[in-house]
Amino acid sequence: MKICYFDHAATTPVSTEVLQEMLPYFELQYGNASSMYSLGRQAKRAIEHARKRVADAIGAKAKEIYFTSCGSESDNLAIKGIAYANKQKGNHIITSKIEHPAVLNTCRHLEKEGFQVTYLNVDKNGVIDLEQLSNSISPSTILISIMFANNEIGTIQPIEMISKIAHQNHILFHTDAVQAIGNLRIDVKQLEIDALSMSGHKFYAPKGVGALYIKEGVDFTKIQDGGHQENDKRAGTENVAEIVGLGKAIEEIYKRFEEYNSHLKKLRDYYINEIERNIANTKLNGDREKRLPGNANFSFPNCNAQKLLLDLDAKGICASAGSACSTGNPEPSHVLTAIGLSNDMATGTLRITFGKDNTKDDVDYLITCLRKMI
Ligand SMILES: *Cc1c(COP(=O)(O)O)cnc(C)c1O
Repeated sequence: MKICYFDHAATTPVSTEVLQEMLPYFELQYGNASSMYSLGRQAKRAIEHARKRVADAIGAKAKEIYFTSCGSESDNLAIKGIAYANKQKGNHIITSKIEHPAVLNTCRHLEKEGFQVTYLNVDKNGVIDLEQLSNSISPSTILISIMFANNEIGTIQPIEMISKIAHQNHILFHTDAVQAIGNLRIDVKQLEIDALSMSGHKFYAPKGVGALYIKEGVDFTKIQDGGHQENDKRAGTENVAEIVGLGKAIEEIYKRFEEYNSHLKKLRDYYINEIERNIANTKLNGDREKRLPGNANFSFPNCNAQKLLLDLDAKGICASAGSACSTGNPEPSHVLTAIGLSNDMATGTLRITFGKDNTKDDVDYLITCLRKMI
């Protein structure tokens, strides 16, 4: 049976050109980047080439990019790193109620260590409350961390406004851009972002590699001790092959950005129109305009999305009922709760996220299956 994969917000396949570029670094170019001989120096060069590619993709300098093991680690390093380095200035952090667990649980961890955290509300479309943001700022606020775009409902936040508010008040601004990289054009200098997290496996690089941009001059403490890798900010022998893969993937995706972006939007808008035309009483979650190009999140009343997922799976279709992290968890997702969805509607919520290999025929097949099942 053909697999129709509609869960690109959970993870993406490694693209062929990315895999090809990575392969030599497993078997032939296996040097440790800290070694002095040429095999080691070649590994070091490959890492620095990848760093430049990441920096170029987001308008940063190469020395502002730190490689990590995943998006979650990037979030931890950014938030804890900045909080620890700035705790003489204050102990207050502002984030939102709809962040990924990598941010939410990092903030909860810091609360146990004496930091104070404000979790901002969002409106019914999932946009954070800017007035509450301004009102929450106090002299002890050191960091604002708001995601660029939400992984469940696809809503894009007013990043430029948030960044402005942060800097008018001399507060650092971090954004979890794990869902945004590859799907939106991002220039960290233009947006005045101080720290930004990304993860390779969300844009056709492998799982297990991420990157963190931290603006030059922003103080942050390392949270993993050991050797002096990554400019002494992240200990551990570099994952050379995967770093090479992440560098190739981010360059590729932005080289073909317009084409990729319009492909995703076309499939998304077609799916949204067809669902609304053919199935009664549906609710599109997230902002209709300011949403990720490949995200369509619908609630179907009186429907059990967990059951729907199993039925779809039997037809070769991969989708998601909330975020992948909460699969098997009967609690409604914190994001759907935050936008005011009832438990019933949350239970019937299906997230479809499109990717580069999806076709219109695949979407027609998905819609046919959904019409029968719902
Ligand atoms: C996937 C995801 C993460 C976590 O990235 P990992 O590489 O899987 O640890 C963090 N934030 C958002 C918004 C995500 O979608």
